[in-house]
Amino acid sequence: MKRILLGLAVAFATLPLSAQQPAAPPAPDPIRTLVGRLDLEKYKATIKGLTAFGDRRQGTTRNSKAVDWIEAQLKSYGCPTERVKYEFNPEPPAAGAGRGGGQGGAQKPPDPIIASGEVRSGPGGSRYRGITRRTGVNNDPNAQPDEKLRELNREPTKPGAREQVYCTKVGTTRPDEMYIVGAHMDGHGWGEAANDNGSGTALVMELARIFSMPDVQTERTIRFALWNNEETGLNGARAYVDQRAALQGKENPPGSGRYPEPKWLGMIQHDMMMWDHGMPRPDGTWNPEQRPEADVNIEFQSTAKLADEAMKLAFLFRHANEKYATDYPAAVGSHMTNTDSTPFMDIVPAISLRENERGMHTGAGWNPTWHQPIDVFATFSDKDFRLGLNAAQTTLAGVSQLTGARMK
Ligand SMILES: [Zn+2]
Repeated sequence: MKRILLGLAVAFATLPLSAQQPAAPPAPDPIRTLVGRLDLEKYKATIKGLTAFGDRRQGTTRNSKAVDWIEAQLKSYGCPTERVKYEFNPEPPAAGAGRGGGQGGAQKPPDPIIASGEVRSGPGGSRYRGITRRTGVNNDPNAQPDEKLRELNREPTKPGAREQVYCTKVGTTRPDEMYIVGAHMDGHGWGEAANDNGSGTALVMELARIFSMPDVQTERTIRFALWNNEETGLNGARAYVDQRAALQGKENPPGSGRYPEPKWLGMIQHDMMMWDHGMPRPDGTWNPEQRPEADVNIEFQSTAKLADEAMKLAFLFRHANEKYATDYPAAVGSHMTNTDSTPFMDIVPAISLRENERGMHTGAGWNPTWHQPIDVFATFSDKDFRLGLNAAQTTLAGVSQLTGARMK
C-alpha cells in the first residue's frame, strides 16, 4: 500500500504544473445559453401583439399597420430593418365564384371521410390516411361571433402596392453568406390569424430579438423575413426571390465589406406552429387537448433541385431539436408544400417547420382553426403555445450551429 502511494506521489510530482491545478469548468455551451433566453410568456405576448391587427389580411390598412408594428419591434431589438416593395394585382374573381375550399355544390363529399382503403392523394406528394375532414377559408363575416373583431376585419382587400419587412444580423467573419429565417405575417378567415401565422411570425421575431442581443455574435449573416401575401399564393416571398436572387454575394459599394444580399445558404420557413391535436375523430370532432405525442414537423420537398441538401438541413434541425428542445420532438418529412420556402427550393436548400405535415395532416383537416374565425389567441392553451416555443428552440439551435453563434 505504502509503495503504491509513494508511486502515485512521484507520478503526480512529475506532471506539468498546469495539470496539477483543478481543471477549469468547461465553457458553457453558447447554444444552450441562447435557447435558454426563449421564454413562453414573451412568445405568447408577441403573438398577442400581432392579433391586435385582426386577421392582417393583405391589401388592407390592418395589414400595413401590422407591418409597421413588426418593424418597430425588430428595431427595438436592435435588428436593422428594410422593406421589400412589390405590386399585387390579381385577376378579379369570376362572378359567383366562391373563395377557399373549392368543394361546393352537389359534389360535396361526406364529412368526415372515413378511410376505406383507396389511395387519396394530398398536396406536395402526400397521401391521406384514416379520417379526414374538408378544409376551406371562411369568407363569412357573420361566422365571427366577436363583434369588435368582426369590425376590425371588415375592410376588404384591394389590389396595389404591397410592403414586407425583414431585418438582418450581419456575420463577423462571413458577412457575405446568409441563412434566411422566415414566416408569413398575413392571414385571413375573419379570426386573428393567431396560429396561421401569428405563431410563426412571433417565432421569427423572438429569434431576431435573441440574435440581436449585444453579447451575441455570429460568423455568418442571418436574415429574419416576415413575408406578406402568403395566403394569395406566396406572392411576397416570390417578390423577394425575383428582386434579390441576382444580388447574392455582391459587395456593394465595392470594397465596403457590405453585402446587401449575402449568398443564400439555406431558407427555413415557419407556418402554423401550435396545434397538433391529432386526426379528426369518427364523429367529426377533434381532441380539445394537444396530443401527448405532438411533434414539430420539419419538411423538405423531394422534387426540389436541392432535395438532398435540403434533406441534410432538415436532419440537422431534427438533431438540434433532440439536443435542445425541452418538450416536444421533431420528425422529418419529404413533402414540403404550400409555404414561402417553395419559391426558394430550387435555388437554395429550403425547409419548413410546422405543427403538422402540410400535406397528410393539415390538408386532411387536422386543424379545425385553420383559416377559420376560431383562429384567435383565446383558442390556444399553454400546451399549444409550448409546441410553438419548441419549434423556436429547434430553429434557434439549428441556426446558431450553422452560423457559428457565440457569446462575446
Ligand atoms: Zn400559413
